[in-house]
Amino acid sequence: MAKGLKMFSAKIKETEEPAVNISKLSKSHNGRLHCSHCNADVEYVSGYLRDASKKPVAAYLRLCKNEEHKSDCKNSVKGSIEQLVDESNAIEDIPSIFEIQDDGSYVFRMNLLVEAQKILKDTSIPGENDNREKGISTGSDYARTGNRINSYFRSASGIAKLRALIEDSADIELFKSLIKIQYKNKYIKWNDFYYDESRYDILYRRAAKAKLHHPVAINVTVKSDLGYYAGAKVFHWSYRCFTMRVDDDDKRQVFVPKIQFSDEKIANQITKLSTYLVVGDVWANSQADSSVPYRNFNISIFNRCQIKHEVH
Ligand SMILES: [Zn+2]
Repeated sequence: MAKGLKMFSAKIKETEEPAVNISKLSKSHNGRLHCSHCNADVEYVSGYLRDASKKPVAAYLRLCKNEEHKSDCKNSVKGSIEQLVDESNAIEDIPSIFEIQDDGSYVFRMNLLVEAQKILKDTSIPGENDNREKGISTGSDYARTGNRINSYFRSASGIAKLRALIEDSADIELFKSLIKIQYKNKYIKWNDFYYDESRYDILYRRAAKAKLHHPVAINVTVKSDLGYYAGAKVFHWSYRCFTMRVDDDDKRQVFVPKIQFSDEKIANQITKLSTYLVVGDVWANSQADSSVPYRNFNISIFNRCQIKHEVH
């Protein structure tokens, strides 16, 4: 039976407010909580610390046993995808990043995101490639380019966030059948686009071998305070995130994600110990000294639409 998405607000029985935030809910509300959209019974699941890493997993809401969302509910897999696609495709003057297929599924056109990201780099990262005088320089052209980039990043991080909020394996299969990712005229696997903390090792190896040709989506939980590195060319601000540790035949490898920012204002919106879904390019240098366990990789962020909160 489909379980739907993890939720972070609910309606309390016999009260007016349609969506009470999880911060105001507790286990004591169980038995009186409903889906904000379709009224199915939901329950509060307490937060906890995961494994030896002590990574915090925040509280969330899930469907009660034997309950089901209505098919068009925004907390169901299909309903959540349809809502995101509608919002994404409703923006005028911008080619739709989601293409609807005859069978009712959608194709996510990664090429559009890659092209938009290239324009963004050329126009808005100081010092990267100062093309502001060439063509897309001023006025409405520049604004249209900005809108397009925001829209594509919002769609990419939005669809990856939906994936991150699904845990049930049947739901994951349904999700993958409804959204296919197209890049350079072929479909790429969801696993090549989306990485949670159990697959940092795979992501690191692909990045170190320069095998990543498009942005990827990564689930990270922030561990450090904001760091500043004056010597960086573009990405001065950064946070270290919770790691993935692999122990193999007495050999330890620790995969360490760092999210790095070109804009201090965006960096300051990040909260320590919170979990985020980030879409961006990943960089890694292969570790020359194999006796050193740390394998670092960086995710670059220059647009606030690359980040989604409320992923746990
Ligand atoms: Zn529902």
